[in-house]
Amino acid sequence: MMLQRSLSLFVAVPMVFLSACSNDSSTPATEGGPAAGSPLAEAWAAHGMEGLHTLTVGGTAWRVRNSFRQTHSASPPWPERDEISNYQRTLDLDAVLSRATGDTFASSMFLDPAVAGTFAQNVTPAQPAWTAQLDFWLTPWGFLKGAEVNGATAGTATVDGVALVTLSWQTPATQVSPAGLQYTVTGYLNEQHLLTRVETRVEDDFMGDLLVANVYDGYHDVAGLQLPSTVEQQRGGGGVFGALLSTATVNPANAGELLTVPAPAAAAPPPPPAAAPAELSEQVAPGVYAINGGYVSLAIEFADYIAVFEAGQSRQRGEQILAEVKRLFPTKPIRYLINTHPHSDHTAGMVPFVREGATIVTEASNVDFLRMALSTPRTLLGEETLAPTFEAASGVYVIEDATRRLELHHLPNLHSEGTLFGLLPRDRLLFQADFTLPVNGAKANPFVVDLANYVVANGLDFDRYLAVHAAAVVQTKADLLAAIGQ
Ligand SMILES: [Zn+2]
Repeated sequence: MMLQRSLSLFVAVPMVFLSACSNDSSTPATEGGPAAGSPLAEAWAAHGMEGLHTLTVGGTAWRVRNSFRQTHSASPPWPERDEISNYQRTLDLDAVLSRATGDTFASSMFLDPAVAGTFAQNVTPAQPAWTAQLDFWLTPWGFLKGAEVNGATAGTATVDGVALVTLSWQTPATQVSPAGLQYTVTGYLNEQHLLTRVETRVEDDFMGDLLVANVYDGYHDVAGLQLPSTVEQQRGGGGVFGALLSTATVNPANAGELLTVPAPAAAAPPPPPAAAPAELSEQVAPGVYAINGGYVSLAIEFADYIAVFEAGQSRQRGEQILAEVKRLFPTKPIRYLINTHPHSDHTAGMVPFVREGATIVTEASNVDFLRMALSTPRTLLGEETLAPTFEAASGVYVIEDATRRLELHHLPNLHSEGTLFGLLPRDRLLFQADFTLPVNGAKANPFVVDLANYVVANGLDFDRYLAVHAAAVVQTKADLLAAIGQ
């Protein structure tokens, strides 16, 4: 008897599975859903959207270490990831609300060891910017809700040789880019009418019309819902966030609680703003200026041109540096813009220099990603597409004329494999980013140790140790060598 009962249960399982997978595509959507028989109606039914108002999904997740564009290599893949346990995301489809939480740690290439922390990501109607709402609209359920509300149109696309049905919709006229353009979202449906990919573009000062795509795979039945096993969000061609989903609750009773953003802890009063430097630029050698304020940049005069080393942490700062270089050297063209490494805070100021016609000098492994980023159309910003030119530096790359020699040394390290530092041997200056010396007796980080060892091994000589992240005091070669006890 027991055996028989077990057997009958065993047989029943595949039948349940089959019925969950074989959604009848001719089923008309009921009241409130999209028009019957359309690709949207099929997807609506396959995803169990009828009567779905709130939803909680859970599992484990990961995010790219440090953040997008702070990765060890410029180009994807970016294998360094931080795990997020107890990952849970709740959506309110009627209110454009999403809250995701989890346990993780604050990882940083500057922190040792990592510190325990929490992951939280909120989407609310109070923040209507497209970039702030993507993590709602790119979910299968948010996408379909938007498709219904905004009148999606169906089409087809061939992906990897397979013809897929697509659905596309545009944001309302109230939700537009800086150039006044509505954003487009496109979803790709498989033969089961399930979304395998949802993508859009969002404006970015550096990346132009940045493609953001959520990829879904391994749909399986959980609580009567088709739940993707894997989620991956891709930016710049690489995965930046993902989840392995195993649990789902449809219309959870505690959705309101799960969607409530806790009140922030009372923040300490902001520090008083730092006094603006009396002079934006400081001559550090004849014809060599440090441009101070925020991130430090170096303007280096050659006989017929100027080389600018570092472009600043934002487009505004890039424009400020450019204006100051032109004021200092009004008659010479800016031929080169040299980049210490490809992290976002060291590349954001590049755009004004590319417009100015400067050639970007960066370590060879950075070129493909930076070229892709800077060549991407910029229609959402209402700007012309840029035509960046590059010089790929490797080993020791020298810019030299009768008046000056600048050596760019490639020093791959834990922070960034595409790092260059500069040496002006006759001016006795070394210029670097993120090889920040320890203070108050702290231990030097591993890449400062790498630089100190490299300087010793190669007999590099200089007096002043200049930093993009300016130190409070003037630093010297002796301060660098102290990091390795010399
Ligand atoms: Zn960096």
